[in-house]
Amino acid sequence: MTETRIVTLAPPQVAPRARVQAMKEYHPPLGSRDALRLDFNENTLACSPKVREALSRISAGDLTRYPERAPVEAIVAAHLGLAAEQVALTNGVDEAIHVLFETFLEAGDELLLPVPTYTMYDVYASATDARVLAVQAGDDLQFPFERLFAAITPRTKIIAIANPNSPSGSAATRAQLVELANRAPHAVLLVDEAYFHFHGETVIDLIGVVPNLIVARTFSKAYGLAGLRLGVLAGPASLLHWARRVLSPYSVNSLALACLPPALEDTAYLDWYVKEVLEARKEFEAALDAACVRYWPSRANFVLVDIGPQHTEFVRSMRAAGVLVRDRSGDPGCDGRVRITIGTREQMQRAILVLNETLATLRIGNETR
Ligand code: PMP
Repeated sequence: MTETRIVTLAPPQVAPRARVQAMKEYHPPLGSRDALRLDFNENTLACSPKVREALSRISAGDLTRYPERAPVEAIVAAHLGLAAEQVALTNGVDEAIHVLFETFLEAGDELLLPVPTYTMYDVYASATDARVLAVQAGDDLQFPFERLFAAITPRTKIIAIANPNSPSGSAATRAQLVELANRAPHAVLLVDEAYFHFHGETVIDLIGVVPNLIVARTFSKAYGLAGLRLGVLAGPASLLHWARRVLSPYSVNSLALACLPPALEDTAYLDWYVKEVLEARKEFEAALDAACVRYWPSRANFVLVDIGPQHTEFVRSMRAAGVLVRDRSGDPGCDGRVRITIGTREQMQRAILVLNETLATLRIGNETR
């Protein structure tokens, strides 16, 4: 074999699209997370043992085949009480958001977003030629329904609502979501139910009844499969039909497909994990009360905490003590606020000890009142 030497003489003169050049960079940590992970709202423990068994049954020969998503899509549809045409599996909800925006947003369209909210809506929208219209929540970070309703225009093409929302943990009601959908029949109402299991309320039963409603669900949170990248888009067949044109047929890999049915079947594991988190959340909120630290009551597996001007130091000290938490100060209306994921009770007891030591060292909360 002859050796090929590549000699670079000059940098490439190719420019990306102007919209891409203007995009903000999003840098989640892609390494160094060997600690108590209370920073990205994942399951903090494990997936179901039934999923581990399914993984161990995968042969080398199985890996030679392209993924076959259709039978698994049918299983997920049945689980959600929907028809197979009403469900599309995706490489996490991130891909679902990306695909929906590519499918529906064009120049002159508006994406309506209550903020603060999940970062990737803004990231993916900024790669399209649509405009992002952000509606700021008040200091209580409750869902800004009236303002969002008033911001709908004939150009509104997608309204994206994380329910419950991140990083606030607050939720919109079913009636509010239906009113928004009815007010904007020319737009898609995307309800992102990533944290559904901790909230217990859904609008997925309204798929097909509310004609412009699309719901997204993830397997990254309660199910503990963030590493496999699995999401679901559920909506009317007539809308999903267009999204499927944009979606790669193989974006959900065969390991993820093999793990999904046992994950759905093991409801005992899911129920146990959710109950554990909800109890841990109650204990953690009580610890914040005791420390006189303000927080926003949450419907999800995380709590947004008001740390104040020392937020950077707080996050650094928590990390040094082995607990990762997420500074959300860069989010609109969130200066000084840090989001802390809720894990199991045992994990959160350790987190509370580290939290109290850090608050005391930095003289935050009790120490300053
Ligand atoms: N939606 C919301 C509201 C989220 O908080 C997250 C994860 N942080 C996602 C979607 C992404 O989910 P996935 O891991 O399925 O891409």
